[in-house]
Amino acid sequence: MVCHLLSIPDIYFGEKAIHSLQRLDACKVGIVTDAFMVSSGKTQSLIEAMPRASVCIYADVRPDPDVEIVKAGAARFNDFKPDVIIALGGGSSLDAAKAIKVTLEEMGSDIELIAIPTTSGSGSEATAYAVISDPENGRKYPLVTANILPDSAILDPQLVLSVPREVATDTGMDVLTHAIEALVSTGANDFSDAFAEKAIALTVKYLPDVFYQEKNIKARIRMHHAACLAGMAFNSSGLGLVHGMAHAIGGMLHIPHGRINAMLLPKIIAYNCATQNPVITERYLRCAKIMGIDTDNDRHAVCQLIDLIRDLNQQFAIPETLTEYGITRENICRLRQSVISAALADACTLSNPRTPTAQDIDRLLTEIS
Ligand code: NAD
Repeated sequence: MVCHLLSIPDIYFGEKAIHSLQRLDACKVGIVTDAFMVSSGKTQSLIEAMPRASVCIYADVRPDPDVEIVKAGAARFNDFKPDVIIALGGGSSLDAAKAIKVTLEEMGSDIELIAIPTTSGSGSEATAYAVISDPENGRKYPLVTANILPDSAILDPQLVLSVPREVATDTGMDVLTHAIEALVSTGANDFSDAFAEKAIALTVKYLPDVFYQEKNIKARIRMHHAACLAGMAFNSSGLGLVHGMAHAIGGMLHIPHGRINAMLLPKIIAYNCATQNPVITERYLRCAKIMGIDTDNDRHAVCQLIDLIRDLNQQFAIPETLTEYGITRENICRLRQSVISAALADACTLSNPRTPTAQDIDRLLTEIS
């Protein structure tokens, strides 16, 4: 079988990495972002880094961007016709920018895409994925196509220092989920393993520091790198059932993406390992080892891995169940069948190491209720 490692963008990282935008001096640059990036002066710092560029800003992205946001963004740039789009923000702004770029290119433009993440989570700066919501049926769809992979990504630590603690831990648990799902995915390979293993090691070491020492810049920088590495990993390997169910539940019940992933992760590890398939177990044992779990007993190691993730969730005040999060049982009941069919149809579920049935997802939904 011939495998293709999807390309990775040019990566600029380190202090003052946004100065790499200087090369855009004579360009028409569209910036896709949200209102906070404007009010906090982050868009201004980009403009100052490319003083001779002509700039048009679309700042109406909201979390879990939908088709209307994409259409409005494309309309904003219709007359301006940018040569370059800069996606500035969390995964929501990055994904909206990718979809806007594709929409404009369908009308005949050829646009360079630069992704500048301001959260350390989605890894969207390094992926050919964009997650777009459809509010009519409350679903989130992962679009996967090579032409939305950013041409370059800029990882500038200054931009993440303002991330509030709750967002930092939700997005940090998203990184851990990406890396673990990449490592156990049916599409895992030597290249994705290398990225995933490093991302897991960095996250376990530095995410607690981000939580307990909010101004620890070293920890913020390393988490920013971990997020990008985890993106590179799953861009090559695919993800799994945590993401399949998180897109379904998060889209219908509006729970932050990283948070619902964190809630599902320990339950899906237990589900995947329940078959005692040695290939699956071996993959989780690798995760356990990287996370510092040292025992010769395979069953104990998997249990300790699950406990360690539960413990991180507890430290970060991430609820264990949907009712604890504030969702009513009636609401969960009402959406149950839609969640099951959306999770089964989600592209991420395809590369889960255990193939789930509707009954399996129903049971997992009960466990997380
Ligand atoms: P987000 O982009 O929705 O941002 C969450 C909140 O954090 C927003 O209110 C935003 O304004 C705020 N924020 C962002 N940067 C900040 C900063 N520096 N300081 C203060 N506040 C800041 O959250 P996210 O977790 O980064 O992204 C989640 C989205 O990404 C979801 O829609 C998810 O489905 C998607 N996603 C995409 C991929 C991919 O590969 N394309 C992968 C995973 C997740």
